[in-house]
Amino acid sequence: MPPVQPPRGTHDLIGEEQRRHRFVTDTAREVAARYGFEEWATPIFEKTEVFARTLGETSDVVTKEMYTFPDRGGDSLTLRPEGTAGVCRALASNGLTQTLPQRVFYAGPMFRYERPQKGRFRQFHQIGVELLGPTHAIADAEVIACGYDILRALGIADDVRLEINTLGDDESRRAHRAALITYMRDFAHRLSDDSRIRLEKNPLRILDSKDPVDQAIVAQAPKITDYLTGYAREYYDNVKVALSECDVAFIENPRIVRGLDYYSHTAFEFVTVRLGAQGTVLAGGRYQDLLNQLGGGMSGGVGFAAGIERLAMLLHEERIPKPPRHVSVISPLNTEGPLSESSRLALKITERLRRDNIAVDYSYWSLKRALKRAADADVHVAVILGSEEVAQGAIVVRDLRRREQTTHDEIEDVVTQVKKLLAGGA
Ligand code: ATP
Ligand code: MG
Repeated sequence: MPPVQPPRGTHDLIGEEQRRHRFVTDTAREVAARYGFEEWATPIFEKTEVFARTLGETSDVVTKEMYTFPDRGGDSLTLRPEGTAGVCRALASNGLTQTLPQRVFYAGPMFRYERPQKGRFRQFHQIGVELLGPTHAIADAEVIACGYDILRALGIADDVRLEINTLGDDESRRAHRAALITYMRDFAHRLSDDSRIRLEKNPLRILDSKDPVDQAIVAQAPKITDYLTGYAREYYDNVKVALSECDVAFIENPRIVRGLDYYSHTAFEFVTVRLGAQGTVLAGGRYQDLLNQLGGGMSGGVGFAAGIERLAMLLHEERIPKPPRHVSVISPLNTEGPLSESSRLALKITERLRRDNIAVDYSYWSLKRALKRAADADVHVAVILGSEEVAQGAIVVRDLRRREQTTHDEIEDVVTQVKKLLAGGA
């Protein structure tokens, strides 16, 4: 029978892949903590309305990508496609809207029914932060600086560039929207089917289209920056000044719109040329209306999310953590009868070392294969307990690099010798 395959668009994280993944998450959590972001964990599924209401009825995520299902009680649930809505729902339902600002970090799986390709999965993982409460340019800059610092700590800051834009306030967007509709109508016959629908419902969405013909039309379309109110322009200018104070370099890209409806004012993306079409590794912006839609009052927030898989792919070889280097304990096992004295002693030593925080691999192989595997795994120290040697009270501690060994008859001496070899750069 052929092995059962995982669902399309999902992947297992095994060995180095999981180490890369962990490194990204741990590094991001650490950097975010320096900015005061504390980790929250919200459910992986929410009531569907949490996303349907907030992300925008015409957003790609809501129209095409959500994993929505009735549970056995008939409630409509959705596997979370992103993290912000859940964090805002949690803020509101835990009565924290009066205790602002809140600085939240999160990490975990997200689910979108998309066409799988390099850097695009149906279950993927994100790290993200939300700074909830202050509507101030400094908050936007802090969040962007945090994203930049995470990329720096991962060693990939030189592989990405920061692009920023403003989406303006409501009034700016209304004016821009009207100009967009007028412009797009002339091209309606050439727009993709999706974008023709967007033209009626949410023309801003067209700016985010990945269709090449749409993109060519979009290139000449009216820009939001020409329709900003005085307030929106000043807000954007302040963000740029604040970013300079943080020493974070950026370029302005008036085409950034962000795929979800809840954004206003600042929008930003860190992009790389190293991942082909899936070049955006970390993206976010300010949202003004989201909390309100979830019953959380009128406060705004600013945040970002980054795809862990995409970040993990960008890591440079030397940054990827290695598995812990083990000490090998090798003792030929008898397959029948009571446990031999040597294998019992081997187990005792193994546990003794592990309790002293030393990583130990209890080998199940013959001496020859065990030594070969130890060499392959770059193991430096082996403890060898042959049954005859043990009968004579001789436990061997071998330095596999220097090809030297000592014999001992006391467990404590073995432990001391192992530690000495490990400390000696072995
Ligand atoms: P894209 O334009 O690539 O579809 P998006 O605008 O839908 O991205 P966001 O909702 O802003 O993405 O999510 C933030 C980040 O999460 C993205 O920049 C990306 O790194 C990652 N991401 C989004 N969707 C996926 C996916 N299906 N598989 C892997 N990573 C993803
Ligand atoms: Mg997308």
